[in-house]
Amino acid sequence: MTTGGCKQTVSVIVPCYNERETIDEFYRRMTGVADRAGSYDFEIIFVNDGSGDDTALRLNELSDRDRRVKVVHLARNMGHQIAITAGMDFADGDLIVIIDADLQDPPEEIPGMLAKLEEGFDLVHAQRKRRDGESGFKLATAWLFYKLMRRFSSRDIVDNCGDFRAFNHKVLKVVRKFRERHRFMRGIFASIGFRQCIIQYDRDRRYAGETKYPFRKMLGLAINAILSFSSSPIRFITWASFALWGISLIYLIKALLDHFVFKVTVPGWTSIIILMTFYNGIILFSIGIIGSYVGRSFEQAQGRPLYWIGDTRNIDRGETE
Ligand code: UDP
Ligand code: MG
Repeated sequence: MTTGGCKQTVSVIVPCYNERETIDEFYRRMTGVADRAGSYDFEIIFVNDGSGDDTALRLNELSDRDRRVKVVHLARNMGHQIAITAGMDFADGDLIVIIDADLQDPPEEIPGMLAKLEEGFDLVHAQRKRRDGESGFKLATAWLFYKLMRRFSSRDIVDNCGDFRAFNHKVLKVVRKFRERHRFMRGIFASIGFRQCIIQYDRDRRYAGETKYPFRKMLGLAINAILSFSSSPIRFITWASFALWGISLIYLIKALLDHFVFKVTVPGWTSIIILMTFYNGIILFSIGIIGSYVGRSFEQAQGRPLYWIGDTRNIDRGETE
C-alpha cells in the first residue's frame, strides 16, 4: 500500500471460471486502461476458481510476462462470491475494483469509477443501464431476482448492480471481516454504510464462452441473498399459520353445525383429502424453511475455511485470514 505523495495502487480483482477464451482479450483491454491511467499503479489479481479448461495455463503465462498480473489458483471451484472474497484477501491496493473476466463489465469504465473515489466516495456501484446480448430468460430471471431481493431482503440492495464496483481500502478492511460461508457480496456492500454512489454503464455481451451462471446457480444466489439478509421467511411461517388457523376455524364451525344442527353426516372424504394435502404441504414447506436456516447455522458452526489455495503467482505472502 502506498502512502504520502506516491502514486496510488489500484487492485483489480477478476474471478475466472473456465474463461480461457476471454482472458487474453480481457488482459489486453485492462492493461490498455492501466497504461492510459498514468496516475495509478495497477495490480491485476486473477482468481482462478478451479477452472477445468486451460485458464490456469493462460494466467500463468501472463504472470510470467507481466509483474502486475497476480494469480490465485483456488484448489477447486468454490463459486463466484468466494472467488471475489479470495481476491479481496490478496488485494494490497489503496483502491480496489471488482470486475468480471468476460468483458461484460467494460474495463474502460474503471477510470470513471476511480474518479468518483477521488471525489470522496468510499464505494462506487456500477449499475447496468442496458444489457446487451442476454437471453430473454436471463433478463426475466434477473428482473425476478431483484424484485425478490427488494421484497425479502432487509437491506437496500441497489437495483441492477452486479459485482462490478470500486471502493477504497477503508471499505476493503470492513468487508474482509465478513466471513460468513454463504455470502452475497452485493448485500454485504449495500449494508455497510459509508459514502456510496452509483455510476451507470451499458453492459456488453459476453466476449466469448457462455454464462457460468445457469438458472440453478442464479436461484441458489437468490435464495442465499434472502436467507443471508432476512428472517422474513421464518416470519412468513407464523403468518401462514395464523391464516390457516382462521380458515380451519371456519371449517370447524361448519362441521359442528353440520353435525349438531343440520344432522347431515356427509362422509366428507373429498374435503378431508383436500385439507390434508394442503396442510401437509404447508407443514413440509415450513420445515424446509427452518431447515435452510438450521443447515446454514450448522455449516457456519463447523467453521471450515471459506476457500483454500492450490497455487499462487507473483504473490509473496499467505492469505489474510
Ligand atoms: N465465475 C467464477 N466462479 C463460478 C462462476 C463464475 O469465478 O463458479 C466468474 C466468471 O468467470 C465471470 C464472473 O464470475 O468472470 C461472472 O460469471 P458469468 O459471466 O458467467 O455470469 P453472468 O454475467 O452470466 O451473470
Ligand atoms: Mg458474465
